[in-house]
Parts: sequence; structure tokens; C-alpha cells
Amino acid sequence: MTIIIYNSVFIILLGYFWKKYSIPAYYLLSSLFALVALDLILLDKHLGFSVLLLFLFLIPFIPRDTPFRADPEKVPVNSQNDYQVDFRHFVVNYLDILKQLESFVGILVYERKFTYYKIEKIYPIEKFQFCKNEIPLSAPLFSALQQFENHINLTTADNIVSQLAELNYNSPLQTKIYTDKDYLIFLFSEKPASADLVSKINQFLQFFEYIKNHFISKGYNDALLELSKSLNNAITKNDLYAHFLRIVKQYIHFDVAFISGTKEGVQTIEKVYSDDRNFLSLEGYSVTENNSLINLSIENRCHLPSNTKFNWEKNYLFGEKKWFLNFHSATVFPIMEHGEAVGTISLLSKEEGEYNDNAIRILMGMTNMLEISLLNAKAYQKMEEMATTDGLTGLINHRTFQERFMQYLQRASRFKRNVALVLTDIDHFKSVNDSYGHPMGDEVLRRVASLLKKGIRSVDLVARYGGEEFVIILEDIDKEGVFTLTNRIREDIKKLEFVSNGVNFRITISMGFSLYPTSGIEKQNLIDLADKALYYSKKHGRDQVNCIENIKEGG
Ligand code: GH3
Ligand code: MG
Ligand code: MG
Repeated sequence: MTIIIYNSVFIILLGYFWKKYSIPAYYLLSSLFALVALDLILLDKHLGFSVLLLFLFLIPFIPRDTPFRADPEKVPVNSQNDYQVDFRHFVVNYLDILKQLESFVGILVYERKFTYYKIEKIYPIEKFQFCKNEIPLSAPLFSALQQFENHINLTTADNIVSQLAELNYNSPLQTKIYTDKDYLIFLFSEKPASADLVSKINQFLQFFEYIKNHFISKGYNDALLELSKSLNNAITKNDLYAHFLRIVKQYIHFDVAFISGTKEGVQTIEKVYSDDRNFLSLEGYSVTENNSLINLSIENRCHLPSNTKFNWEKNYLFGEKKWFLNFHSATVFPIMEHGEAVGTISLLSKEEGEYNDNAIRILMGMTNMLEISLLNAKAYQKMEEMATTDGLTGLINHRTFQERFMQYLQRASRFKRNVALVLTDIDHFKSVNDSYGHPMGDEVLRRVASLLKKGIRSVDLVARYGGEEFVIILEDIDKEGVFTLTNRIREDIKKLEFVSNGVNFRITISMGFSLYPTSGIEKQNLIDLADKALYYSKKHGRDQVNCIENIKEGG
């Protein structure tokens, strides 16, 4: 009976601890083993002790939970966190040294933002972990402090201090407050602070600024590196803008961003990045206001406003002032191309003083990088446009076909020759893609293209007209000649054999053609007529050739 009771108590306790402290399996197993041994001792001493001995012998063999070890290769590196950790590390080291020279219990640094003071530095962190992160400017604490230019003595009994933090010191503390333009420093010490400490605190403030700038420039280099990596992955203008703003946002805050570009001589908002839907509708807005920051920035080829202080009374972004009432910082950068401003980037923030010298410096570097990438993108696009052949089939592309057809017609008119324009379209090509996959479809296109190229004479031309449509220009040929040539090609295409995963299949092609000068003499008209003939072939069973003139004759 006693065995049952103490066993139950033991197991219940074990379960409780296991649940509460999640005891590793190793200890759980050992405890249960020990329990069994004890039970046996109570029943039979010899057996019990033998089992206990066995248990002690087995201890090293009980499987243990392998301790978690981070693989340094796999630990994600976050540059933002690095920055914070390093920064804190520096300041804490400094304060540690300062503390050896002067006795103080702790320090709190608040930085002034637009409508509130934000905590910037806590030291030591354990003592102030409950203090408020943000205190509005309207709080009685700050209205009271506004009268003080320099430092004042307070005690923790003061209402001001109790508002700041829930301090639980046993001995009453002296609190000194140092006000700077943008910083408020609360220093807690057990005795009144010496004049020497006051100057040391001032040094700390300077050091604080210095360190902050140091890390901002580290952030600057990181930002540029990351941006250059990211911009390499984008080709189109819109992609570049999106990548650019994504990286900018990691380093510089903005609530709304506008990107403008020159369209018919007018700056037009090309892209808006904002969570606020109202702003998105501004895409396409023409900035005609000459006194707007956007147009002034284009005109002066520099970022505006030139001083970092932003004032809506003096500065006017564009459109209606009421759109931007909630914003207290803005900056506009021109996008330069070969010395000319061709567009702008505007960032807006609800917070005051967001675009300080450091932010401007980072933005300047980043904008330079964007400009280079935009130029590259433009050159790439031009190269694409200049290319005359189609990448998949190696045939002349559509644009070049249009130019060459024009030349054929001019020559035909001069030398009184015929020209035939044949449009072709593979039958049920969609089902080739659907049944055998897109790569197989591409393979079909390549082989048809190569067959077409072989099937024509050297004076003729074949081009890729569109997806699975090809166009053939035949020179100095009559209607019968075109029928013979195209029907031969059509039969050859029918003979092509394709294999996909062991399945054989074939394709057919439909064609339609028009003739210069009998069907028409104008380029576009001849194309339209050939298309009509092709449509006729499709409608009348596919796998055939028709001439627009035969259709007309046939009615
Ligand atoms: P129809 O006989 O009426 O012409 O039928 P179809 O299925 O050929 O119809 P349609 O001309 O509308 O279909 C063209 C298909 O060609 C649609 C598109 O998916 C495919 N296509 C266009 N360009 C390419 C390409 O470059 N590669 C591949 N694999 N498929 C393409
Ligand atoms: Mg088609
Ligand atoms: Mg087709």
C-alpha cells in the first residue's frame, strides 16, 4: 500500500516538474529507473540493490539530448542588428569607463522627435527596463522642463522623475537633468553630481554624436553595397525604382515616395509608393506648377530643400498643399542623365527633421547609383530594339520584317516586279504546348523556322511574325509559283516528326497570301489581305494555302 502511495506521489511530482520546467528526457528516464530500483529494494533488498547497481552502471549509456549548437555558417546576418548591437556596445563601454571615474547609478538619454521624446540610451539596461520609451512633448514633465536651459537637481520623489520611470531604489537618489537642444539626459546618482561630471556629460554628448555618425557612415557603406547588389537584378525602369526604394527604406524612413519622369516636356508622377491609397491615384499626375519643389529641383539640378529644415510655408511639393498636411519632412532629388535632370525622387515623412545631413548624404550616393543603373537599363533596351533577329528561332524579327518588306515593295515598284506576302500560322499550336509542354513548343517553332528558311530562295525572306506565326516574302513570282512553293513547304512541315517522352506527333500549318501589285500596293493593305486569306484557310479545315484573289473570285 505504501509503495503505491509514494509511487503515485513521485510520478505526479515528476509529471508536474516535467510539464513546468520541461525536464530533458535524460533526467526523466533516470528518475523512472531510480523509482523502479527503490520499489524493488522495498520488496526484495538483494534484487533491489542489484538493479540499482545495474542502473548506476548504465547511466553513461542513457541517451542525452544533444545540446543545440548554432552553425556559424547558417546564422543569418542582419546588418540592421549589427549596427544596433555595435552602437550599444560602444556607448556601454564608454559609460563603464565614465562610471569608474564618477559615481552614478544610471543614465537615461531621450532624443527629441517631432511630437515626443524617444528613448535613445539606457544605462544600465536592467535598472531602467520599465521606463517609458516615448514621452509626448505635451506631458507635464516636459512643459516643466522647458524652463530649464541647463541642468537641474531633482530627487526621485519628484513627480517629474516618477513620470519618467518606475524607479525602485532603496536609497533616495539625486537626479540631474541636462537639456541640450535635441537631447534630454537624466543622470541618477546617490550624491549631488560634481561640476566635473557636468563637463564629462557634455563630452559624452559629443562622443555620442561622433559614434552615431561613425555608425551612420558604416550604414552608408552597407546601404550602397546592398543597393548595388539589388540593382544588378533589375532591368526595367520600374523594377529599378522598386528595388531602389526597397533598399532606401531600410536606411531612411519615408511614408510616401513619388518618382517623376519627363513626359512630353512635363514632369509626370510615374510611380507612387505609399500605404495610403489616396496617394496611389496621383500616378499620372502632371506637375505643371513651376514653383513646385519637383520642378525647381529639375530646373536647378539639385536636391531641395537645400537646407535640411523643411517648412511647408516656404516649400511646396506639387499639386495641392492640403494633400501633404500630415507630413513634416520632405526631400526631392533630381535624377540626372548626361548632366540633364530627367526626373525626380521625392520622399515624405510624417516626422520632423527626417532628412538630415546624414540622410541626404546616403540618398545622394544611392541616387547616383540609381542613375547609373537607369542608364544601363536604357542602353540594354536600345540594344534589344536594335537587335534584328528573334532570339528563339534566329529568324528576322517583326520590326525588321516591316522595314524589309517596305524595301521589297519599293524595289518591286521600281523594277516592275511581283512580290508575294505569305502569312503562316501553325495549326492548333496551343494544344502542342498543352500536351507536350512549352519547351517542346519552342522546339517545334525552331524546326519549323529552319524548314521555312531552307524552303525559300536566296532572294526571298522569312521572318517570325508573332508567336507561332511566320511571314514569307517572295520576290519576282506569280500566283502559281507561290502556290507551288508554299504547298511544298506545307507538305514538308507535315512530314516533320516530333518526339516527346516517347510519344510521336506531327503538326500542320495554314497559310494565306496576297500579291503585289494585283491584290494591293500598300504595305499594310497587303498584310491585311494575306491575313484574311490565312483566316480563310483556318476556317476551311486548316493545313492549306489560299490566295486572297481566289477567295474574292470564289466569293
Ligand atoms: P489555330 O489553329 O487556330 O491557330 O490554333 P492555335 O492553338 O495555334 O491558336 P493560337 O494561334 O491562338 O495559339 C497560339 C499559341 O502559341 C498560343 C501561345 O501559347 C503559343 N505561343 C506563342 N509564342 C510561343 C513561343 O514562343 N513558344 C511556345 N512554346 N509557344 C508559343
Ligand atoms: Mg496564332
Ligand atoms: Mg495557331
